[in-house]
Amino acid sequence: MKTPEDYLMLDKQLLWHPYTSMSHPSPHFLVEGATGCEITLDGGQVLVDGMSSWWSVIHGYNHPDMNQAIQTQLTQFAHVMFGGLTHKPAIELAEKLVAITPTPLRRVFFSDSGSVSVEVALKMAIQYWNTQGQPNKQFFVTPKSGYHGDTFAAMSVCDPDNGMHNLFNEALTQQFFVAPPPTGIHTPVDQAYLHSIRTTFEGNHQQIAGFIIEPLVQNAGGMRFYNPEYLNQIRVLCDEFNILLIFDEIATGFGRTGKYFATDHTTICPDILCVGKALTGGYMTLAATLTNDKVALGISDEGGVFMHGPTFMGNPLACAAANASLALLDSYDIPQKITQLESWMKNALAPCESLEQVKEVRCLGGIGVVELKKPVTLQDVQPKFVKLGVWVRPFGKLIYLMPPFIISQEQIQTLADAIYQVVSEETV
Ligand SMILES: *Cc1c(COP(=O)(O)O)cnc(C)c1O
Repeated sequence: MKTPEDYLMLDKQLLWHPYTSMSHPSPHFLVEGATGCEITLDGGQVLVDGMSSWWSVIHGYNHPDMNQAIQTQLTQFAHVMFGGLTHKPAIELAEKLVAITPTPLRRVFFSDSGSVSVEVALKMAIQYWNTQGQPNKQFFVTPKSGYHGDTFAAMSVCDPDNGMHNLFNEALTQQFFVAPPPTGIHTPVDQAYLHSIRTTFEGNHQQIAGFIIEPLVQNAGGMRFYNPEYLNQIRVLCDEFNILLIFDEIATGFGRTGKYFATDHTTICPDILCVGKALTGGYMTLAATLTNDKVALGISDEGGVFMHGPTFMGNPLACAAANASLALLDSYDIPQKITQLESWMKNALAPCESLEQVKEVRCLGGIGVVELKKPVTLQDVQPKFVKLGVWVRPFGKLIYLMPPFIISQEQIQTLADAIYQVVSEETV
């Protein structure tokens, strides 16, 4: 029988983990179980989860309703191809997604992951303009500090200075970058910023298919919060220059910002919307790209078909999980629940503000961020967090919380105390 040490040794030898070295792998922790907001490691140590497993497990682990929904679907069928066949879980999920997103978004394309849903969005935009007789519109404008996934087209619209662009320079499509929206949810709109977008549009609109942005919060690119009024104004500019507006809500969707979608903080609607991560409550991998009739029917003009069709498109188990997750979300009062979570995080993280190492503490909905003056070394801080009984995974200068929505105030306090402790031990 293999011991836990054997497993970890094999893990080191065989497995690639996200963004890690094969020759100098960082430590990984063997998980035995997870329930509610707690992850149990081999050996019995319990960690309070501050990450929702990359922002997806919004109802916590091992939720009875979620488990039941997947088990029920499993007794019927786990999967059928989506070409030529369809099924109730996918149809019900599409109906629900259309109902909870702004009215014009009425057409749903399912795919396997967030990155692929972004690929699909970009392809939709290009194919739309092609069908409309504008085949030169093949490029995208996007703000710096964005993150849209790790596949090639998604990478091409990620922040160009974070390393990946240098590495894959020759292989990536050169897109048009504008500055990130100035930070601060309540900071008044800077007209000069909007003017810089206008200038980019004016000079290049004949080549530009779409503008892609994470609404309200730029997530993995820096946990930057900005005034949603920018999005209203960008919508106007996109209309003026015949540019499709694409919102990537893979991180912000399903309540994280205190409303069902970050789009709900604006008065406008994008042409294309990507969702993923929390869509299935973190149970299965599934994403969706929603669009309006203009794009969907535009692509299909004159017999055109949209050129994409993943093998596991609309996987019934994943759709059943998503349906159960959305039913659970409906049973919450999202604004009330997330406002409470925000105030717990604000209070619990406030002491960090006085630490010399800290540049800023900011919270928005279910997102709490402690931004440091200097980056941390993951290899150093990760074991410290584990020792303190929490699962928090920082990147660069950012130590943040995106906990499951069902977390308790006490658990938030445990997470915040651990952050305070670990940050206070960093060199200034
Ligand atoms: C995580 C993320 C993606 C990529 O999703 P994957 O499922 O990891 O492919 C894309 N956009 C945003 C905003 C994300 O947070």
